[in-house]
Amino acid sequence: MDYLTLAEAYEKIEATRSRLEMADLLVELLRQVPVDEVEMVILLTQGKLAPDFKGVEMGIAEKLALKAIYEATRVNETEIQKLWLRDGDLGNVAFEAVSRKKQTSLFTEHLSVKMVFRNLEQIAGSSGAGSQDMKLKLLAKMMHDSSPVEAKYIARTLAGKLRLGIADMTLIDALAIAYASKEERDAIERAYNTCSDLARVATILAGDGLGGLENIKLEVGIPLRAMLAERLPGIPEILEKLGGKCAFEYKYDGLRIQAHIRKDKIQLFTRQLEDVTGQFPDLVEILGKSFKGKAAVLEGECVPVDINTGEMLPFQTVSKRRGRKYELTSAVTEYPVMLYLFDCLYLEGGDLTQTPYTNRRKMLKKCIKETERVKLAEVLITDDAEEAEEYFRKVIGKGGEGIMAKSLAPDSYYRAGSRGWNWIKFKRDYKSEMNDTVDLVVVGAFSGKGRRAGNYGALLMATYNPERGIFETVTKLGSGFDDAMLALLPELLDTHKTDKVHRLVDSKMQADYWFEPSVVLEVKGAEITLSPIHTCGWELVRKNSGLAIRFPRYTGKVRQDKPAEEATSTDEMLAMYEMQAK
Ligand code: AMP
Repeated sequence: MDYLTLAEAYEKIEATRSRLEMADLLVELLRQVPVDEVEMVILLTQGKLAPDFKGVEMGIAEKLALKAIYEATRVNETEIQKLWLRDGDLGNVAFEAVSRKKQTSLFTEHLSVKMVFRNLEQIAGSSGAGSQDMKLKLLAKMMHDSSPVEAKYIARTLAGKLRLGIADMTLIDALAIAYASKEERDAIERAYNTCSDLARVATILAGDGLGGLENIKLEVGIPLRAMLAERLPGIPEILEKLGGKCAFEYKYDGLRIQAHIRKDKIQLFTRQLEDVTGQFPDLVEILGKSFKGKAAVLEGECVPVDINTGEMLPFQTVSKRRGRKYELTSAVTEYPVMLYLFDCLYLEGGDLTQTPYTNRRKMLKKCIKETERVKLAEVLITDDAEEAEEYFRKVIGKGGEGIMAKSLAPDSYYRAGSRGWNWIKFKRDYKSEMNDTVDLVVVGAFSGKGRRAGNYGALLMATYNPERGIFETVTKLGSGFDDAMLALLPELLDTHKTDKVHRLVDSKMQADYWFEPSVVLEVKGAEITLSPIHTCGWELVRKNSGLAIRFPRYTGKVRQDKPAEEATSTDEMLAMYEMQAK
């Protein structure tokens, strides 16, 4: 298939905000793709060269990309620099420069999807001596052969910012319509949740049809998408929802880890399926010593501990292990971690995800020898609300985040990739007026005044509305930032800057700066009110009003583990508003 067909489809997708229209455009595209190119098309559409867990980094230094654009077009370098400074979007620079290219060469080659994909792979995969030169040549050659739209999306893909705003769920909608039927959507989503590789699912679907998906099974070494929890405001409500009796587990505040264990190899993945094995050599070692079987997939929370007192430390300490700047060897000794295991998804050849919770816990107990550093998550099974309240207070007293209630029902399966009532979280903040902290997405900012002059003064925060596929503003956040965090804001936000309000953001406010929805911060508010200036849940409660958070405060936690689409949803805000109104 021609790359131009793909680029033109992207151009149309970029112009729409409607998830339905996006899906229609994707269906139209998918129907033209030959089976052996489906994998590449899906990956490119996700802005990737491989599924996340394979850790293939796209990125290219912007300087090199700008140089390649210059080499290919010979548009004046200061002009190119000017274009770049205008909105920091390599795609727009490439588009403009290629459009302005004076003479068209006779020796251009027609770009195919296959060719572009292979070239991108080569660019991403090369390192060491001579690699810069090779990258420059390959990219300049592609830019030289490109039309403006092709150049735009090649550059954006390389920059790791495709900016199409297609959520995986929209791609799944489109796959269902193109290759099966709308009714089969759930089966496709389940296959995706099991292998976390939409390109693989799509290829099987396009080649073998729906039946082919049965071959997608849980495998050690291939992470499955994490199960998520619902929330309720009180323990009696939780007990009622779970049939009068359930397991209450300690909710540890750390980094979720999915450990894939084989005899000779252990791999660790985060909740976002990033492979972090290399960052936790100590975890690999202690887990290897604790595990008594041959093969398993276990899940748990990795928590930093004080080596002197054995006490758990704040979650942020774990992130010290994750920065590239930090020397790993000293981090391992300075910030030791332990692992509290809470689930067993696979053991000795058997997929346990369709087994009830109690059995999975039994299997977990059977295969793990507890040590100082590897333990099973604490659990209390009860039908007594008083006893559960007491346990909750004990957890909070020890610095825990709250408790996780888990269903004991015969169908209390592990539902990969979805939020369900088999797990319900109950956190300490539920006790205050506004019942919970929320995780909000930064979509804009306002210039600082006084002490904050020259920096961002306040941030415009949004919830995510999955039905619309749109981020809706909910509050202006100014307090809770210490000097260190204030100084860090540009580093955190500037790479996401856009020149106008992002296409997927619905805002009635005019901010001074706009960002692509990406950074998620934890926020605590005093109350949820109705407001005519915020768009969260617009007119769901009252005409001409949305929901807003009063007196928001940044809690100090950047939710690096959450992608923007997993931030607090508009529905959750609405539920919290209703709970509060009660
Ligand atoms: P939240 O991040 O607030 O949505 O809460 C869900 C997270 O709690 C999970 O992704 C886990 O990282 C974490 N967690 C801590 N302890 C447990 C536990 N015992 N069971 C399940 N999840 C837990």
